[in-house]
Amino acid sequence: MGKSKGADESAANRVQTLRSQLQAASYDYYVLDAPDLPDEVYDRLYRELQDLEADHPELITPNSPTQRVGEKPATHFTSVRHNIPLYSLENAFDLAEFRAWEDRWRRQAPEIDKVEYVAELKIDGNALALTYENGVLVRGVTRGDGTAGEDITPNVRTIRSVPLRLAIDHPPAIVEVRGEAFLPLKVFEKINAERAERGDALFANPRNAAAGTLRQLDSSIVAARRLDFFAYTVHLDQFDPTQMPSASDQITTQWAALEFLKTLDFWVNPNRQLCQSETEVQAYFDEWATRRAQLQYLTDGVVVKLNDFALQQRLGFTQKFPRWAVALKYPAEEVPTVLEAVSFQVGRTGAVTPVAELRPVQLAGTTVARATLHNADRLAELDIHQGDTIIVRKAGEIIPEVVRVLAELRPEHASKVAMPTHCPQCGSALVRPDDGAVTRCINISCPAIVQGAIIHWARRDALDIEGLGEKWVRQLVEQGLVQSVADLYGLTGAGLLTLDRMGQKSAEKLVGAIAASKARPWASVLYGLGIRHVGIVNAKTLAQQFPTVDALAAASPDEIETVHTIGPEIAEAVFQWFRVPANQTLIERLQQAGLQLAADPAESTPAAGPLAGKTLVLTGTLPTLTRPEATEIIEAAGGKVTSSVSKATDYLVAGEKAGSKLTKAEGLGVAILSEADLLAMAQGE
Ligand code: NAD
Repeated sequence: MGKSKGADESAANRVQTLRSQLQAASYDYYVLDAPDLPDEVYDRLYRELQDLEADHPELITPNSPTQRVGEKPATHFTSVRHNIPLYSLENAFDLAEFRAWEDRWRRQAPEIDKVEYVAELKIDGNALALTYENGVLVRGVTRGDGTAGEDITPNVRTIRSVPLRLAIDHPPAIVEVRGEAFLPLKVFEKINAERAERGDALFANPRNAAAGTLRQLDSSIVAARRLDFFAYTVHLDQFDPTQMPSASDQITTQWAALEFLKTLDFWVNPNRQLCQSETEVQAYFDEWATRRAQLQYLTDGVVVKLNDFALQQRLGFTQKFPRWAVALKYPAEEVPTVLEAVSFQVGRTGAVTPVAELRPVQLAGTTVARATLHNADRLAELDIHQGDTIIVRKAGEIIPEVVRVLAELRPEHASKVAMPTHCPQCGSALVRPDDGAVTRCINISCPAIVQGAIIHWARRDALDIEGLGEKWVRQLVEQGLVQSVADLYGLTGAGLLTLDRMGQKSAEKLVGAIAASKARPWASVLYGLGIRHVGIVNAKTLAQQFPTVDALAAASPDEIETVHTIGPEIAEAVFQWFRVPANQTLIERLQQAGLQLAADPAESTPAAGPLAGKTLVLTGTLPTLTRPEATEIIEAAGGKVTSSVSKATDYLVAGEKAGSKLTKAEGLGVAILSEADLLAMAQGE
């Protein structure tokens, strides 16, 4: 099956672009210790290059980043050749990739049935090779490009967890210990804080900070930075195991090597585990996915190694990796992918959101195909073009977002993505208030807005209309059967049957569910109206304080604001909502349809306490209490606070500079209380 010439050309182009991007990134990372790309992004681009090279082996060159370890650093230290190369590790980003690695080594050793793995944490630091001659530390070398590294012995000597002398009486002539030098998180944060104070560039992560520290020319700076070191490999050249004091048997496994390293006085990471199966490896990986957050150092995955050295030796190495080990990486929070298109969604408030349609990608454990671009400002700031390679992130939020554009990877002649001027749903001109970031469609009959409003209305917390999902709502609106939520209550089974794929049974059920929603309480109806800032919690509070829609509709913003937890913005939004004629009509129609627009008196159990059933108004400055504090005391005692004095007011609590409310209360014969009176009454005195 021959690939078309066009496809090959585009593969070759992409390979070229990826290579130059990865090479530039490698230089920033290894030589300058100042990466510009997040590691996850580097890893994904690297993987894309690997995949392309696998499909097009003719494109592989010895200089490709997939064929080389690290980077030759431009440095003042002497370069030292490693006796045994220091390899990198192959990555597995999920269980399937781990299995693929397992399959590969098993093909080389088909007779092996039962296998033992050592699972270790992958410490996010820098590999070092330490040489001991007759038990004395003589050299510490960085990994460099895997073949040769830099001699940083004076710096290595400052690391407290690196013994200067091995803790055994008859040490082998030459011992090489390998492990990871790293910066504890606390130290990393301190270094960055100091750098920020001096105005120096910050280190991107502890690994780069450790690399930068190890390559300091002044070892007193290194000493002050308190690097640490975990050992994980030992090579015993010309070593006679019978001379080993603590063990008469040879070290034939990774597990034994780790134990041996401990006897030499090295710090070996205690969180290791011997695993007898893939399931055990998986359990270890899962366990540390959460536990690693509590560690004092960064880990980015788990290294799984075949325990048996004889088997390791048989399998050997590729150009870059040992075949007997793999790094199982924790899911990335940031990954690159390709932007396939940008769509513009119109929400139920008319807000138009640009949404990136992506080439599907694995992100933090899920497949992501869309990411938000937030708004027009963000779109302009990103300067996003069709076909761009972009970085998407999931950072706690459920909706992934586009963080950055890798403009260097932009295809030629790509056109820039711009915000539309007209609503993609109804075609009316979009508006954007000068002070707001949001571009809106303000046509209240815009199908997108109507659909959004109905879907919200049907939600469980709102009118809880089971079966009224997006596919029906879209058709109902498109066919003009429903233009507002009030229209739902006029729908008949026969009417619904005109919808595509609607059956008799479903139609009856839906009509039933709509009818049942008439029994939903006032708070749910209020929430269902979708007034800005009125979520379910605020709706419940408001419905409690304003037991009828008329009371709420007649309330001034000030009155609404006296409700505990309701701020000025919410109060204003509610007030304005009831001033819109279309909304007033909607309320009338809902009332006619028989919805609950008032609290069920049976439900509101009278509050208990010394002020139960009493309505109080606060005015003036009280000697010690603030308004919210006084309100809290009154409510705790079962009373209610309103903002204006009327015949219904039981008490006016008056402080200093009490104005018109006091006069009015006196006129109406309302009892006046001082703060002290209030406190006494609230205590039942
Ligand atoms: P690596 O860090 O992914 O894995 C290999 C290394 O893991 C070893 O060399 C060793 O130092 C370390 N390690 C930690 N714990 C270990 C343990 N218990 N046993 C054995 N080894 C252990 O690979 P790498 O070649 O050092 O670096 C490649 C990585 O560097 C990439 O995956 C990428 O994330 C990052 N990088 C990033 C950029 C960038 O621009 N952000 C550029 C280049 C490289």
